[in-house]
Amino acid sequence: MMSKLRLQPEAVGLGMTSQRVRDRLVQRLRDNGIANENVLNAIRTVPRHLFIDEALASRAYEDTALPIGHSQTISQPWVVARMTEALLQNSPNKVLEVGTGSGYQAAVLAALGMEVYTVERIGDLLRQARKRFRTLGLNVRSKHDDGRIGWPEHAPFDAIIVTAAAPALVDSLIGQLAVGASLVAPVGGPSSQSLLKLTRRADGGVDEVELAAVSFVPLLSGTLD
Ligand code: SAH
Repeated sequence: MMSKLRLQPEAVGLGMTSQRVRDRLVQRLRDNGIANENVLNAIRTVPRHLFIDEALASRAYEDTALPIGHSQTISQPWVVARMTEALLQNSPNKVLEVGTGSGYQAAVLAALGMEVYTVERIGDLLRQARKRFRTLGLNVRSKHDDGRIGWPEHAPFDAIIVTAAAPALVDSLIGQLAVGASLVAPVGGPSSQSLLKLTRRADGGVDEVELAAVSFVPLLSGTLD
C-alpha cells in the first residue's frame, strides 16, 4: 500500500523538534527490526511532540512510553511501529482502535491512509486527542465509550488494534472482524503481556501468532469524564 501522508505542513512543527532527531528515532526502529518503509515514514512524519505535554516535548522522539495524565501513557514508538506493521500485512482500509489515549497511534494509522475509528473511555483524554486530529487535519472518527464493546455500527473492520492489556482477548471485538481481518492486542496481566495477532478465517476459526513481549496499561471497564 502507498503511504498517503495527509498532514498540513504548518502543523507538523518541524522547527520545534528537528528532522535530525526524528531521523535518529527512525534509525533506532530500523535497528530494532522495523522494516516497513511506509510505517517508518509515518513515524518520521507524525509530530509526536504534539501528542504529549509541552514540558515533555524534548523527549518526544525517544523510543519510550511517556505519561499523558490520568495514569495513562502514549505508547513507545517501537510498539506503535510493530503493531502498525502487523496490521499493514492485510492492507486494511477501515480500522478500529480501542484506547485512543493521546491519539498518536490513531494519527499514525490515519497518516497511512486508513479510515480510523477510535474509542476511549476517559473523556478528558479523548477531548485532547480530538483537538490534535483537527489541528493535523486527520480524519479520525472517535467516541467516548467502553471500547470493549467495539463499534458495532461500523463493523466489520479490516483490522482492530487494542492499545491496553486484558487478561484475555475480548470476544465481542473478534466478532467485529471481517473475514481475513486481524486483531492485534496485548494479552496478559500487569507484569507480563504478549502482543498477539489473531486472524479470522473464512471457516469461522482464528489463527493466532505471538509478535512480542510488551507492557501496556490495563484495559478497564466503564467510562470516566
Ligand atoms: N493508543 C494510545 C495508547 C494510550 S494508553 C496512544 O497512542 O497514545 C491506553 C489507553 O486505553 C488509555 O488512554 C486508556 O484510558 C484506554 N482504555 C483503557 N481501557 C479502555 C476501554 N475499555 N475502552 C476504551 N479505552 C480504554
